[in-house]
Amino acid sequence: MDYLTLAALWFLLLGCTLADKRLNEVLFSGDYEFIDLTYPFDNQTIYWLGSEEFKFTKKTAMFQRDGSWYASNDFTAGEHGGTHIDAPYHFAVQGLQVGQIPLNKLIVPLIIVDIASKVNDDPNFVLYKHHLDYMLNDNLGRPCIIIFKFGWSKFSWDKKRYLGINNGGLNFPGLSAEVAEWIVTSYKNVVGVGVDVASVDPGSSTDFSVHKILSRAGLYNIENVNLERSVPDHGCTALVMPMKIAKGSGAPLRLVAICPKQKPEFF
Ligand SMILES: [Zn+2]
Repeated sequence: MDYLTLAALWFLLLGCTLADKRLNEVLFSGDYEFIDLTYPFDNQTIYWLGSEEFKFTKKTAMFQRDGSWYASNDFTAGEHGGTHIDAPYHFAVQGLQVGQIPLNKLIVPLIIVDIASKVNDDPNFVLYKHHLDYMLNDNLGRPCIIIFKFGWSKFSWDKKRYLGINNGGLNFPGLSAEVAEWIVTSYKNVVGVGVDVASVDPGSSTDFSVHKILSRAGLYNIENVNLERSVPDHGCTALVMPMKIAKGSGAPLRLVAICPKQKPEFF
């Protein structure tokens, strides 16, 4: 190896080290906090009707003869319950399955659109374009996800109220097909859409048009986002980490926001 190659290699290594250090220095400087937007998975977790609910089976939890501890359990569950992702494949045959969604679509800037005051706890509320400003905050056209806050997390302890169960039907707020079309045509940088309700479509929907529009455009959905804690409407990074079910149409999700402790002036 000649001197120049060696020097180039050294600079490369130095560059990597510095870049690495800067990221960690930023993340762990005390200026950022990690906010969990995930409901726990247990026997209270809300599942889509007809879906297998989360079943946790305690198998072993005991001290061994040598005094050491050993615990191990089993669980089973449907894909679509609790905080979860809908892969594009959920409503589009050519869409990506959960295990195929690339990380650069799962670690992205997070935009929160808070419409809770407009919803005003009305389970019949459907979000149309006219409810929003003349444009959405779209992270200046760079990749991002948008999570709509309907103000529904406060009902999450009461499954009947949260889903609006009535005579076998469901009744909770959601997006209109108009808003879904608007996002996929005017905001092509948006890679996923989230909601703090059980579905991106309103509970009363029978045609699931929002699911179809978003899936066909290659977007994923995040449903049952836990927004009990307030989250800055911009400036956070989302870690969208679904269980990597290779051929999944959906999967349980750990959703975390990394947010500046003080709201930034700019992105
Ligand atoms: Zn789903």
